[in-house]
Amino acid sequence: MMTADQLKDLFEEIERRSGEALARLERLVHQPSVSAGGEGIEEMALIVAREIRALGGRVEVVRSGGFPVVVGRLPGRSSRRLLIYNHYDVQPPEPLEAWDQPPFEPTLREGRLWARGTADNKGDFAARLAAVEAWQRTRGNLPVEIVWVVEGEEEIGSPNLETFAERHADLLQAEGCLWEFGRRLSSGSLEITLGMKGMAYLELKAVGAAADQHSSLAPLVPNPAWRLVWALASLKDPGEEILLQGFRDGIASIPPVSTRLLEGMEQDDRRELARLGLDSFLLGASGEAALQRLHFEPTCNICGLTAGYQGPGPKTVLPAEASAKLDLRLLPGQDPRIVPELIRSHLARRGLGDIEVRMLAGEAAAMTEPTDPFVAAAENAARLVYAREPQVVPISPATGPIHALCHRYGTPAVSFGVGNPDSRIHAPNENIRVEDFVLGIKQVAALLSLLAEPAEPARSEGSPESNRCL
Ligand SMILES: [Zn+2]
Repeated sequence: MMTADQLKDLFEEIERRSGEALARLERLVHQPSVSAGGEGIEEMALIVAREIRALGGRVEVVRSGGFPVVVGRLPGRSSRRLLIYNHYDVQPPEPLEAWDQPPFEPTLREGRLWARGTADNKGDFAARLAAVEAWQRTRGNLPVEIVWVVEGEEEIGSPNLETFAERHADLLQAEGCLWEFGRRLSSGSLEITLGMKGMAYLELKAVGAAADQHSSLAPLVPNPAWRLVWALASLKDPGEEILLQGFRDGIASIPPVSTRLLEGMEQDDRRELARLGLDSFLLGASGEAALQRLHFEPTCNICGLTAGYQGPGPKTVLPAEASAKLDLRLLPGQDPRIVPELIRSHLARRGLGDIEVRMLAGEAAAMTEPTDPFVAAAENAARLVYAREPQVVPISPATGPIHALCHRYGTPAVSFGVGNPDSRIHAPNENIRVEDFVLGIKQVAALLSLLAEPAEPARSEGSPESNRCL
């Protein structure tokens, strides 16, 4: 068993150079890179390539149809390989007036660095760069080869990453993948996440007359807004049951060792409800039952609904079309590609077959088994760095391309990072704590150290032959 003492050289080096690491992060977040509109993306890809090259990596800027993917390869002492996934794009900074400083002018205040991209995801990228650098300065060659995939379209749903992954399958097989995100909880524990839900993102569109009509024609002219509302109402009942036939088929059974992780999770229903401005969660769920629903239930959510007139005062109109956007979050085993067809047949059976169903994005869920040795390495690293038990989350209720990049190739993935519970990702005043940033560098360095050792199992449960990817 490794002790923190054996990491002293690395940790001292990290502390000695933490100012430089922070300055590098400040440079990274100073460069806008908004994938939604494309601002600064090409410049950012070049900066990322330069940073990895500076560590002695061979870098290729790959184009698979969209914004470039930067692929870095850093040689290691052994043939074992660690895959690292980050993204260099950020969410749009708007609304600008809600920021306490301009979003791309990094500011140090109250022990935190404030700027767009600090937590999501340039802080994690910078921490990993600093960890590799600290290793090289103290110990020379890396213990394992690192293949680093840094994409520029994560915030717009990674539309071209699957194509990239298909063309580079040989690169993506690894002992494990260090995924992009994470945070340190209020208790001081590191959160380690073992997967993400999938998603089918759809647009439903109902069309009526050739153009908007005077609403006096309502006795004769079909109203697409009603047809859309009936369609939506048929998808889910007030008891939160998704009524789509065949939707739950294929959901993989969740291993008890994964569900049991929920028991130990830090959770404060009251604080969360206060933050949301609500009196209770759906169906009155609380405590562990709420965690169970959040992590292990698929969803059918209406993201947007558009029809007719919504301006000031009355306008008696019978709209010519109505549309809605839906996201359905999926569990391991559910195939996003069949969801549009399930909805089409469901609507056809109800006389609503004219409603157009279009898939805008789809990603399958992925979950790494807690018994995987790579998870053990991440947990043991956290024990050494944070001096407390990490909180292991079996699957994130959010979605990311873990399946496309890792699980289809049998590579287990774990995610941890430098955020905090108030990092405000995607929102104004995004921030990380400087303390968490330095700990995050140590966590990556400790993981590298543990990967240099022979693997040991994380938990005694679960058969070793069971599929690591669900
Ligand atoms: Zn994000």
